[in-house]
Amino acid sequence: MKEPQTPVSVPPEAALTPIGAAKIRETKIRASAKTRKAKAKLPDLAEVAEIFRRFAAADPHPEGELYSVNDFTFLIAVVLSAQATDAGVNKATKALFAIADSPEKMLALGEDKLRDMIKTIGLYQAKAKNIMALCANLIENYGGQVPHDREALQSLAGVGRKTANVVLNIAFGEPTIAVDTHIFRVSNRIPLAIGKTPLAVEQGLEKIVPPEYKLHAHVWLILHGRHVCKARRPECERCIISDLCHSPEKRV
Ligand code: SF4
Repeated sequence: MKEPQTPVSVPPEAALTPIGAAKIRETKIRASAKTRKAKAKLPDLAEVAEIFRRFAAADPHPEGELYSVNDFTFLIAVVLSAQATDAGVNKATKALFAIADSPEKMLALGEDKLRDMIKTIGLYQAKAKNIMALCANLIENYGGQVPHDREALQSLAGVGRKTANVVLNIAFGEPTIAVDTHIFRVSNRIPLAIGKTPLAVEQGLEKIVPPEYKLHAHVWLILHGRHVCKARRPECERCIISDLCHSPEKRV
C-alpha cells in the first residue's frame, strides 16, 4: 500500500533567514521520510506466513508478562496496565491478589485500601474507582464471573476494546488481536498492517495473519515489540525476521 507523496514547493534557501532555512530543512526531512515510507512495501501473504512461522518456531507457547492467579485477577491486571508497564503493574499486584482474588474480596478490601496498594501505577485513582464499579457489576450481573462475551466485557468500567480483546484471547482462548502500543508500532513498521488507529491495525492484522497463528499472534507481536523491535532503537541485529522486514528504520 502506498501513501500519496506530497509535493514540496519551497523558495531557495539562500534567499531566506536562518530560521526560514531551518524550516525548509525540516520540511525536506519530513518529505524524505514520507518518500521512504511510501517505498516500504507490504509483505505478501507468503512473507507474513513465514514471519509467524518463525515466531512460532522460536516460542511455540508464548506467555504474556502480566501476573495473575485466575481470570478475575487477569482482568484486573489488564485494567491496571493501561498506560503502565507490565513490570510496574506486577510489582503492585503480587500483594494485592494475595488478599483480593475475587470481586467479593476486592469490594471487601475497599476503594481506599485498593488505591493505597496500587498507588505506584499511573492513573491509580481512576483505576481504583473503576475496579470497584467493575467488581459490583460482575457480582450483580455475571455471578461474580468474568463474562466470556465481548459486549459484556466492554460494559464493565475501565474495559475498552483492547482490554476485552486481551481477556478474550488469554483467558478464553479466542483468536483476537489486541492492538497495544507495541503491536501498533511493529505492525506499521515491518509493515504487517498499516493504520492510523489501533482499530485499523487490528482489522488489517485480522485479514493477513494465517488462521493457525491467530491465537498467539497478539503475544508474539507484543513480545517482539517490547524486547526486540523497540520504539527508539530496534535491535535489528538480533531480529529473527530482519530479512522479511521492509522498514526504512531497519539497521541491518
Ligand atoms: S529488522 Fe529491525 S525494524 Fe525490522 S522488525 Fe526487526 S527489529 Fe524491527
